Amino acid sequence: MFHNATLRLTALYVATLTAICLFFSVNLYLVSTRELDVGLGRQLTFLQRAPRFHEFIGDDIVLQRQTQLEEAKHRVVFGLVYVDLIIIGLGGVGCYLLARRTLRPIQVAHDAQVRFTADASHELRTPLAVMQSEIEVTLREKNMTIEGARKLMRSNLEELSKLTTLSEGLLKLARNGERLDMKKNSLGAIIAQAINRVKELAAKKGISIDNQTINHSVYGDEASLVQLFAILLENAIKYSHEGTSVTISSGHEMGHSIINVRDQGIGINKDALPYIFDRFYRANEGRSKEKVSGYGLGLAIAKKIVEAHRGTIEAHSTGNGSEFTVGLNVL
Ligand code: ADP
Repeated sequence: MFHNATLRLTALYVATLTAICLFFSVNLYLVSTRELDVGLGRQLTFLQRAPRFHEFIGDDIVLQRQTQLEEAKHRVVFGLVYVDLIIIGLGGVGCYLLARRTLRPIQVAHDAQVRFTADASHELRTPLAVMQSEIEVTLREKNMTIEGARKLMRSNLEELSKLTTLSEGLLKLARNGERLDMKKNSLGAIIAQAINRVKELAAKKGISIDNQTINHSVYGDEASLVQLFAILLENAIKYSHEGTSVTISSGHEMGHSIINVRDQGIGINKDALPYIFDRFYRANEGRSKEKVSGYGLGLAIAKKIVEAHRGTIEAHSTGNGSEFTVGLNVL
């Protein structure tokens, strides 16, 4: 598809280049032949006004001059055609390279879109397939009990809740250029809201959240920033052992606010670190004993929020857990 588009764009560029060459060549030809005609006309006028001189040199020189003029015009035509062919030939190669370069970002975006759609469909299929097979099995049972029906519904509800989480995540990722209400915010209030969102999950695992942030200002969209820190805190809890603690701290650095989320969990493999912000990437699937729920979308959303705020986000595995560092503008 992109090969054909490249060729079509190259043809368009070459056609434009040819039109420009033709325009200049025709004008150059007209100007130069007019100059030659004017030169010959002056010579003929001179000969007519000086009959003695005309008698002396004869008619041959007039014919000779006219033949030379025709030859000069032919030489101009050949010269221009020759130069145009070289320009169009070399320009054609340049046009092809330029067309490839022009279409490259579109191809990258297109490939990413195709991958995203394929990944999303794959993830959506799993819960749907589970629901379908459970319903089929239950329907095949001749004596379905109320308890059996309840069990099926509970399981279906679980899968539906997974689908809801997944579709919400996909929607957040797909919303491009969403309007952000950028303003000065209190970091303390943002972190408090983020902690509030995850406190139930932390309580379930007996994990304490140690809030060591200092209350300075951060510039950005409040709702997005709350979501960003809720994702990091939720991950810290999800990938931590029961009874451990998660620490969130902050500092100031040259007009930037630096916020750290540290846990004492399973850590992240060094090889996986470069990919954890990619959509649908899950690093620890085989590492943690219990299966941790998720679709690999949280950090991709976090990264998108940070990029929209022109901030930075980095991940480290500390040997005793993981650490995520976010840099945001203070103003
Ligand atoms: P999810 O948690 O839904 O799988 P994320 O995009 O939030 O998706 O994270 C991507 C992957 O990065 C996770 O699957 C996990 O392997 C790894 N990860 C993220 N945060 C942590 C953490 N605090 N500790 C260990 N691994 C983490």
